[in-house]
Amino acid sequence: MKDSIQQDKQHVWHHLTPHQLFDNTDPLMIVRGERLSVWDCKGNEYLDAVSGGLWTVNVGYGRTEIADAVREQLVTLNYFAQTAGNLPAAEFASKLISKMPGLSRVYYSNSGSEANEKAFKIVRQIAEKKYGGKKYKILYRERDYHGTTIACLSATGQEQRKAQYGPFAPGFIEVPHCCEYRSQWGDVDNYGELAANEIERVILREGPETIGALCLEPITAGGGVIPPPKGYWEKVQALCKKYDILLHIDEVVCGLGRTGKWFGYQHYDIQPDIVTMAKGVASGYAAISCTVTTEAVFNAIKYVDSDPKMDYFRDVSTFGGCTSGPAAALANLQIIENENLLENAQKQGCYLLCQLLALKEKYALIGDIRGKGLFLGIELVENRNSKVPVDESVSAKVAALCMTKGVIIGHTNRSFTQFNNTLCLSPALIITEQEVDSIVSALDFAFSQVSDTLD
Ligand code: PMP
Repeated sequence: MKDSIQQDKQHVWHHLTPHQLFDNTDPLMIVRGERLSVWDCKGNEYLDAVSGGLWTVNVGYGRTEIADAVREQLVTLNYFAQTAGNLPAAEFASKLISKMPGLSRVYYSNSGSEANEKAFKIVRQIAEKKYGGKKYKILYRERDYHGTTIACLSATGQEQRKAQYGPFAPGFIEVPHCCEYRSQWGDVDNYGELAANEIERVILREGPETIGALCLEPITAGGGVIPPPKGYWEKVQALCKKYDILLHIDEVVCGLGRTGKWFGYQHYDIQPDIVTMAKGVASGYAAISCTVTTEAVFNAIKYVDSDPKMDYFRDVSTFGGCTSGPAAALANLQIIENENLLENAQKQGCYLLCQLLALKEKYALIGDIRGKGLFLGIELVENRNSKVPVDESVSAKVAALCMTKGVIIGHTNRSFTQFNNTLCLSPALIITEQEVDSIVSALDFAFSQVSDTLD
């Protein structure tokens, strides 16, 4: 094991990690997983409350049925480009679409960023074909994240995540966030409506004839776990209809049960034109992402008009043809159904929320608790009245203290100048009440170490 740590320290460039850390410490090396637990190379066990660090392992670790399905598929046919069909891709597309009324086409690729890139290209091509190139702008929201590539970062509303990586792609326009706790208008009854009105203000400023799509997370994830306020989605959907703007929902985090429904947008009465998804699609057992569209979007590109040689979606993703992705995704979806994991996510999500609200009664540094299903955020503040956010080091300290109790939690991290102050919980959907209690007890301990109690 010592060798592996040395090899890692010498040659691996870790994601999102300041490597100075490893001048004096060893990297955490995770070597095994079972249900919600992972073990490091020194034999320490952790309860993973963030599904693999990045909200991915929705059905938990050690699922031999997924591994078996992938193995069987790999020895039959591991790969052929998606210019041709293959059996698991066809079957998974059909199963997936049965969970998404109103949508009908699945385009395969390998990461959330790539799925979003496809969506942006579809919007741009429709702008070319249908609107003489005019409707090319894509609106995105302050605090949302859509991925790591330059186009996806161009569509991301997090200033620290973007810093030093510009210049960005043109045609991506920001609309204001919808975090009611950080209301731009103080305490108001109709915050959701006001936040949606801000989108309309941007549409009118830019000119509706220039805007092709609005790209939103159903619940902002890495930007601080922000569910939309009441009244928001109704207005957003109406704006898209009114101004002929495609609604692209980024379900990379919320998709496949995280919030207690198949998709986050299904909590609200909305009908998206494009939905992208990745992490939970195969729970990290294989790399797969999907860009799902309506038949109308598909047809807008399919029908040949000006130039038959050019008028189709001229996009390819080499590894979109890996059959391990849809094979794993099929087995993953089967597990979610067989084990009623949507219901469990609702039930345990409610239980976790109740326990967190009890902690809020106890600790003044908890400013806000929000989320849906098994996707919850805890925003930390220096003072409840001033709502001054705690420094990133405080959220990091809470996470580190939880680690000492054997629980891994997440926290917003180097995304904003001010708001790296939200802890994130997104355990696997198979979690039990007892495991929820362990997470809460680690948090209780951590809060007791970093703050004064209210009483
Ligand atoms: N969209 C959202 C909402 C995400 O949270 C992420 C990743 N955290 C992405 C897109 C990008 O996904 P990937 O890292 O697989 O490219």
